Amino acid sequence: MCTVFELPATKLRVYQYDLSNEKTEKITAAIVEETKKHPWVKAVEMFFTIPEGSTTRFCDGLKDIAPEVQIFGGVACSDDITSGVSCVFSKEGGFSGTSIIVVFYGGEDLHVDSINVTGWKPLGRKFHVTKSSGSILQELDGIPAYDVYQKYLNIRNDENFFYNTLEFPLFYEHNDTTILRTPVASSADGSLTMTSDIDTGSIVRISYGDPKTIVESIRNDSRKIAAFQPDLLHIFSCAARRTFWTDKEPTYEIQPFKEMAPSCGFFSHGEFLRTCGRLNQHNVTLVIAAMREGEKKGAAAVPAQPEEAALSKVPLVSRLATFISMTSLELEETNRRLEDANHRLKTAAVIDGLTGLYNRKEIQSQIEQALLSVEREKFSLVMLDIDNFKQVNDTYGHQEGDAVIIALAGILRGRQAGYMQNISSGRWGGEEFMMLLQNTDLSSAAYIAELIRQCFANTDFPAARAQTVSLGVTQAKEGDTLDKVCTRVDTALYKAKKEGKNRVVVV
Ligand code: GH3
Ligand code: MG
Ligand code: MG
Repeated sequence: MCTVFELPATKLRVYQYDLSNEKTEKITAAIVEETKKHPWVKAVEMFFTIPEGSTTRFCDGLKDIAPEVQIFGGVACSDDITSGVSCVFSKEGGFSGTSIIVVFYGGEDLHVDSINVTGWKPLGRKFHVTKSSGSILQELDGIPAYDVYQKYLNIRNDENFFYNTLEFPLFYEHNDTTILRTPVASSADGSLTMTSDIDTGSIVRISYGDPKTIVESIRNDSRKIAAFQPDLLHIFSCAARRTFWTDKEPTYEIQPFKEMAPSCGFFSHGEFLRTCGRLNQHNVTLVIAAMREGEKKGAAAVPAQPEEAALSKVPLVSRLATFISMTSLELEETNRRLEDANHRLKTAAVIDGLTGLYNRKEIQSQIEQALLSVEREKFSLVMLDIDNFKQVNDTYGHQEGDAVIIALAGILRGRQAGYMQNISSGRWGGEEFMMLLQNTDLSSAAYIAELIRQCFANTDFPAARAQTVSLGVTQAKEGDTLDKVCTRVDTALYKAKKEGKNRVVVV
């Protein structure tokens, strides 16, 4: 295959960097520098040999290339796709098993566009990547990653592992694009070596190649490329896709592109494409770069489409996969509802329905907890009872009564009164409340009680206008029991009522 550019403005430069000698950062800096030095650059194409480790640092290193520059490429692959041997060669660097060839294309008359086609679909339940480092995937949902393949797909850790998992890559979202990663090897500890990095925290699903989805993606994307009216196509097709299609149809999915314009490319061990400004290494995908010299000529031809009927894969697989996906979605939805209901039940057990404060049982249990550590942390209690509340109900109705109770609860939450201490407030009974103030001595508690009294007295109710509350305050002492400390604060409150209400009494 040979490419002849016809227009004099079209420029091209080829570089070769030795990946074994030079540091990733040095190579990426040199590539970025090259695009800055030559503003005519419109596309950067990369041909890798199989990299030693992850290519994430390489991809991130190219982020400073002007966003309109297209970046694409692939990793050269042996005929035997399980082999780790690959090579590239150019006039610049000669033959090498550890290099990257970078081609810069550009010039006024050259137009470049690039896309990727996947067509793989997520299948079944989600897994959380709980442990990974670089391209080593250690755990999914806290269990060795290999066990997931063993349990859900019955794939054994033998010489066929690579082939068997090839059709079931992990599918996840990263940098706003869909990424697929395939395991290439598994270790005795159950960790998997993936085709490239996979971040801890990613939510992944096992995916499968759905011939129908692939055909649909190709239908859409071949129209996009046809509209571009390419003179030339470069195609990087993951070797996994070759094994996915049968021997009869190894290039089935690239047929429409091949008929559109002269094309060249290879089955790759990883594909590169910049989308949304970020360069990613893909796997199990098809990257297509289109080039044209000069403006478009007339209307775009309609690309020939692959015949769906000619697919040799039976739709049964497709139907079963849909069945599993739908079942998983329904289960996820049911789980979500159960979690919600569980959360509501747990909340209902400790929260008072009318006021949203703790209920009596909960505030009592918190006081009991506080009593256990009374020697270390002095806490205080404030007990409150709305004055002449029966009268509010009798005169203005139960609803207005409720509004008065809710308003006092709001003040107890501290929003209106503005205090910051570590306070729990609970509804003790009808219009009675109890506050537990951790690390608060008697005088601070009395001060807060007084703030609350004033704040409530200044609240204006639509019908009931101004209302008042009486408050008792006490501090926990050594030897206190729940009963003792509550009786003491109740006595203080009783005194406040007796002395004329709308006041704070401290004992
Ligand atoms: P005092 O100043 O001595 O506290 O007099 P009071 O009228 O506030 O005292 P009492 O304890 O006799 O009255 C409390 C009333 O609170 C009686 C009850 O009907 C009413 N109540 C209890 N729970 C609620 C409720 O959730 N909503 C309303 N609106 N009223 C309630
Ligand atoms: Mg009362
Ligand atoms: Mg009362």
